[in-house]
Amino acid sequence: MLWRTHFLTGAVAGLVVTGSTSPRVVILTAGVAGIAALLPDLDDPNSWAGRMIPVIPRLIKLTIGHRGALHSLMGAVFITALAAFLLRFWHPQAYVYNHLIPLFVIGYISHLVADSLNPQGVPWLWPLDKHFGLPLMQTGGFLERFVIFPALLVLCSWLAGTRITFT
Ligand SMILES: [Zn+2]
Repeated sequence: MLWRTHFLTGAVAGLVVTGSTSPRVVILTAGVAGIAALLPDLDDPNSWAGRMIPVIPRLIKLTIGHRGALHSLMGAVFITALAAFLLRFWHPQAYVYNHLIPLFVIGYISHLVADSLNPQGVPWLWPLDKHFGLPLMQTGGFLERFVIFPALLVLCSWLAGTRITFT
């Protein structure tokens, strides 16, 4: 999937579960889940997320490969634990932590679900090698670019609009 499709998938997933009506929290919710949805592709130095960080994506691709450990439940647990550790230093208040980490998990898992719609699939149960995927769409193909992406954009805008209440 393209990075923008992943971002919107994560944002939609985050917006579906949020109960907040504050514009600031709704935007933060979509942003956190959307960004978390980009992180599994840190295993590809040519991906949008991989280009944001020097060296590390190249090392990950050389060692565990693209669509390897980071595209698995084990990867989700590891990256979430790392994010939780960093968040504790950045913002130790529990309410922020308790709101952001579930959104982070939801965004990350949304990436794995979306990539599972490609024939290449993802190794959900890594270190087992088996990839789970459905041959429904190709990354960057017609269906993704002209049907799924616009539909997600509309859905994301609609969800954000229905969640936000201006007082
Ligand atoms: Zn991916």
